[in-house]
Amino acid sequence: MKISTDKIKRVVIKVGTSTLTHSSGYINIRKVEKLVSCLADIHNSGKEIILVSSGAVSCGLAKTGFRRDTLTTEQKQAAAAVGQCQLIDMYARRFSDFGATIAQILLTRSVIDNKELRDHASTTIELLLGQGIIPIVNENDTISNEQIKIGSNDTLAATVSALCNADLCINVSDVDGLYDSDPRQNPDAKFIEYVPVVSDDIYSFGKGAGTARGTGGMTAKLESAKYTTERGIPMIIVNGADPEILYDVFDGDFVGTYFGVK
Ligand code: GLU
Repeated sequence: MKISTDKIKRVVIKVGTSTLTHSSGYINIRKVEKLVSCLADIHNSGKEIILVSSGAVSCGLAKTGFRRDTLTTEQKQAAAAVGQCQLIDMYARRFSDFGATIAQILLTRSVIDNKELRDHASTTIELLLGQGIIPIVNENDTISNEQIKIGSNDTLAATVSALCNADLCINVSDVDGLYDSDPRQNPDAKFIEYVPVVSDDIYSFGKGAGTARGTGGMTAKLESAKYTTERGIPMIIVNGADPEILYDVFDGDFVGTYFGVK
């Protein structure tokens, strides 16, 4: 996919649990190190980056000893409280190796739905970006139960993109992008690299669950793409198997799906 990146200054980059962790639930250190060096470099090139990172529940599970097969929502919330510390500590250390400073922002649906709280969040993000700091956003899982959850971090990334008037939202996933059917089940599935409008037909392509460690799935990604593109913000899905794919995006030539007007 070829795009022009000249006018892209502010970017929300969402990275999912399946990209950040091994199937054991522990952090994939090699991947995270590559991701952080890429992001720090892109930041050095003059882009403003807001990272939306999952991984708190998964990191916490590996530490708390809760059983994955009988996990309750409350146990996930408790696991996230442990895992979020580990996640942010890891990012703070790795980014500081490159001289970059990070900040932690935790949001919930109740913040997004309340104008005053939303304004506080956007002012904080704006001030941080103005100081060259990289905000790292996650859902506040301690208070987000099923009722007030934003949804998946795909939805959170779309909401944050609108909140901070991003020029682009990049969803770094464990799939290459959108196919017309599930490529894990249909070897003839056709890859779709450009979607100007997220129509009902496009939705029908996206059926299927997320991975074992993530919660998003393609439907959540398509809903996010619809949300951002309706607000004039393009969204891209790329495969984070090699985080250096982000360089390809900023070079304007990458393998992935682009949603929105080019
Ligand atoms: N907030 C969750 C976590 O950090 C992620 C939720 C999601 O990716 O859907 O584990």
